[in-house]
Amino acid sequence: MAGSGSGFPRNTQPYLRCAQDKMEEACGVFGIYAPGQDLPRIATYALYALQHRGQESAGIAISNGETIYLKKGAGLVSEVFSNNKDLEDIPALSALGHVRYSTTGSGCLENAQPLLIRYRQGALAVAHNGNLVNGGELRDRLEKEGSIFQTTTDSELVTHLIARYGYHDLESSLKAVLPELQGAYSFVFLTEDSLVGVRDPFGMRPLSLGIWNDFYVLASETCAFDTIGAETIRDINPGEMVIINKEGIRSTQVLPSPRFALCIFEFIYFARPDSNIQGKNIHLIRKELGRQLAREQPADADIVTGVPDSSLAAASGYAEEMGLPYEMGLIKNRYIGRTFIQPKQEIRSLGVQLKLNPVKKLVEGKRVVIVDDSIVRGTTSKKLIDMLFKAGAKEVHLRISSSPVISPCYYGIDISTHEELIAYKRMIEEIRREVGATTLGYLSRQGMLDSLGMSEESLCLACFSGKYPI
Ligand code: SF4
Repeated sequence: MAGSGSGFPRNTQPYLRCAQDKMEEACGVFGIYAPGQDLPRIATYALYALQHRGQESAGIAISNGETIYLKKGAGLVSEVFSNNKDLEDIPALSALGHVRYSTTGSGCLENAQPLLIRYRQGALAVAHNGNLVNGGELRDRLEKEGSIFQTTTDSELVTHLIARYGYHDLESSLKAVLPELQGAYSFVFLTEDSLVGVRDPFGMRPLSLGIWNDFYVLASETCAFDTIGAETIRDINPGEMVIINKEGIRSTQVLPSPRFALCIFEFIYFARPDSNIQGKNIHLIRKELGRQLAREQPADADIVTGVPDSSLAAASGYAEEMGLPYEMGLIKNRYIGRTFIQPKQEIRSLGVQLKLNPVKKLVEGKRVVIVDDSIVRGTTSKKLIDMLFKAGAKEVHLRISSSPVISPCYYGIDISTHEELIAYKRMIEEIRREVGATTLGYLSRQGMLDSLGMSEESLCLACFSGKYPI
């Protein structure tokens, strides 16, 4: 644990070199302002709820009003915070939490968040979800001007910009810094006396506001509120900044919002089914995606099964609409360690058979529909279909509750190049052959929009359309 008031306020974890982050992470952030409450415990519980958004590292920063303390490390929340004794005695005012998913390598510990710095105005901790598309440019400029970076995160970049503007309060500094940032971001900042949440002008990454025992909380997803017993108030608006401190909460439209461009993948895959985004429940949306998929891509089959866990809702919707039995044809081993969610391609494909296993007696001799939420590289689909045939399935009909992914994401999701994508420059029939399915059907783009009840202008669909909102 490092404290901003005692010596140099840096994370005291050993330095590990981060070889090459092609992209930033898709992460989970949490913040709470609740003087005198057991914030280490509350923040830890919230991070447990957000664990699906990142398993590589976890961290919590706590302010007692004068000093910010930081504890972070590589691994799951349960590993990093297995013992919170060092945080327990802090008379906490506010807390900031983060879980991180990185795109390359396993270490990169210096990139773990929250990031804690000390500058002329005091201590500042920051947690970020998203990716700045002009991060490289800004970094180049700052390096030419003499800045030295210890991490490859956008968060550090932003702290440098904040420090350079040198305003007395964070709000004024952010008003100067935010217009320089382009890309997807939901930031939560912690100063000694305030908690500040900001969402980018396109609202690409989610950020919600809740209330817990009269105290305000911020989180990437509302499932974190449910876990700690908080009520959801609303989503933070695109371009909005909220400042929470002893005076209560204050909201400023800090940047104009040209349009809404929330990442559609939050609905399809990312968010937890019990979360609500834009007032829409993720489970019900996925079920509707499955229903719509059945209307567009029916299959002559005996049973429907889904790829656990993110595709189960879509599979049940598909089965309901088709009038077919919905079965648990694939069983997930929930006790596989982090090794198999590491983002390296070779490990990813090795891990499939350890993570998932077909129920032989169920699929034997049957025509099986397998519903998945998306196909990115295709390696997992290929292995799953192979497994189902080996388990005795007569036919395997692959149905995807989203459209073909044809373009990379530059906004913080781990899809880095066109070449990685199986649907890039391939016809559906070629993809079907490649993955070995009897038939293959994707949901149309309009079908996705209809299921969400949202227009193309209110979402980012760039990885399906190649049209980037920023
Ligand atoms: S490009 Fe795709 S994954 Fe990236 S933000 Fe847009 S919709 Fe989400």
